[in-house]
Amino acid sequence: MPIKNRFAETHADITAWRRHLHEIPELDFDLFETSKFVEERLRSFGITDITTGVAKTGLVAVIKGKTDTKGRVIGLRADMDALPIEEATGLDYASKTPGKMHACGHDGHTAMLLGAAQYLAETRNFDGTAVLLFQPAEEGGGGGRVMVEEGVMDRFGVQEVYGMHNMPGLKAGEFAICKGPLLAATDEFVLTVTGQGGHAAAPHEAVDPNVASAHVILGVQSIASRITDPLKQVVVSICALHSDTDAHNVIPQSVTMRGTVRTLDAGVRDLAETSLKRIVEATAQAHGCTADVAYVRGYPVTVNADENTDYAAEAAAAVAGSVITDTPPIMAGEDFSYMLEARPGAYIMVGNGEEGATVHHPAYDFDDDTIPAGCSWFAEMIERRMPAA
Ligand SMILES: [Zn+2]
Ligand SMILES: [Zn+2]
Repeated sequence: MPIKNRFAETHADITAWRRHLHEIPELDFDLFETSKFVEERLRSFGITDITTGVAKTGLVAVIKGKTDTKGRVIGLRADMDALPIEEATGLDYASKTPGKMHACGHDGHTAMLLGAAQYLAETRNFDGTAVLLFQPAEEGGGGGRVMVEEGVMDRFGVQEVYGMHNMPGLKAGEFAICKGPLLAATDEFVLTVTGQGGHAAAPHEAVDPNVASAHVILGVQSIASRITDPLKQVVVSICALHSDTDAHNVIPQSVTMRGTVRTLDAGVRDLAETSLKRIVEATAQAHGCTADVAYVRGYPVTVNADENTDYAAEAAAAVAGSVITDTPPIMAGEDFSYMLEARPGAYIMVGNGEEGATVHHPAYDFDDDTIPAGCSWFAEMIERRMPAA
C-alpha cells in the first residue's frame, strides 16, 4: 500500500490545519500563534514529551516506538515561518495579516509533520525514538542554525535527520532528490562605490560613481564566465542599486549595491568571495572611485549524505511508486544545511503540482493533494530506519 491508509482518513483534518496556519502567517523567530497551534495539536495526539521555546518559538516533540532495543533516534524537521509578501491568491483561507503570507509552503510542511506525528503516536510501529523538530526563521535568521547551536541534536540524541520541501512544477506527491549538494550556499554583500559628486553638465569636475558602478556590475559577471570552473555552479546577482540622488542633473557622491552569491562547493565559494572583492575594489579604483565591500556568509550548502539519500529515496519510492534520484541542484538556500552539517541525513523535494505559481510569489499556494504523500514519507522514514523489533 503506497500511501498509508490512515492518511486517507486524516487528509481532511490535516488540510484544515494547513489552511488555518495559512490564515495566520508569522515571520522569523516570532511564531507565537503558529507554535501554540502546533503544541495544541501534538498534545491532542497524546504526545506529552514536548519542549517549547527552542530557538525562541521552535518546538521539539519526542515520540517513542513500541520498543527501544537499539537506542535508535531519527529526527524529522519542518519549517514553520512565512514571508513578508502581500498575498494575492483570493482564496477564502488567504492570509488574515496584511503584508505576511505563507508563500513558501511552510504551512504545508508543518501540517504534514503534524499529520505524521498523529500517525506515529497512534501506531508507534517502530523500534526507537522519533524526534520532531519544528523550527522558526528558515526564510532568514537561520532558525535551523540556532536550534543546532542550542544543542537539540545532542540533547535529544538525534542520529540522523531528514527534511522535505514542496516543489512547484513537479506533480503533486512525486518525489525528487539527489546525492551531494542539493541547495546552494547563500552569501550576501553590500557594495558602496564612492566618487565625487557634482553638476551633471560638468563630469570632468566630478568623479562619477554611476559609471564606475556600471563597470562593477558587468565586471562581477566575469566570476561565473571567466574565473570559476565552468562545471561548478556560481551565481552572482546584483539586486538593489541606489545612488544618493534622484535628480536628473546631479552626479551622485556614492552608489550602493546589494546582491547575493550562490555556490554549491566550498572552494568555489571562497574563490567567488575573493574575486568579487578584488574586482569591485580594482574597478572602482580604475574609475577614480573607492569601494567598500561588506560580504556576509549566509546558509551553507545543503549536502545530502550518500547513504541517507538512498534511505530517503527508498522511502519515497515506497510511497509514490517511483522517485527522481538525479534532480538537478537548485541555487536557492536552506538552513536545514546546518542540521545536515551536524548529523548525516537528507533533504527531499515533494511535488506541489505542475501548474500554479512558484514559491515566494504572491499567487503561490501549497497543494493539499500533496499531504498524504508527504505525511507517508515522514512516517515511512521512521518505520524504515527503525523497523519494529
Ligand atoms: Zn522560501
Ligand atoms: Zn521554503
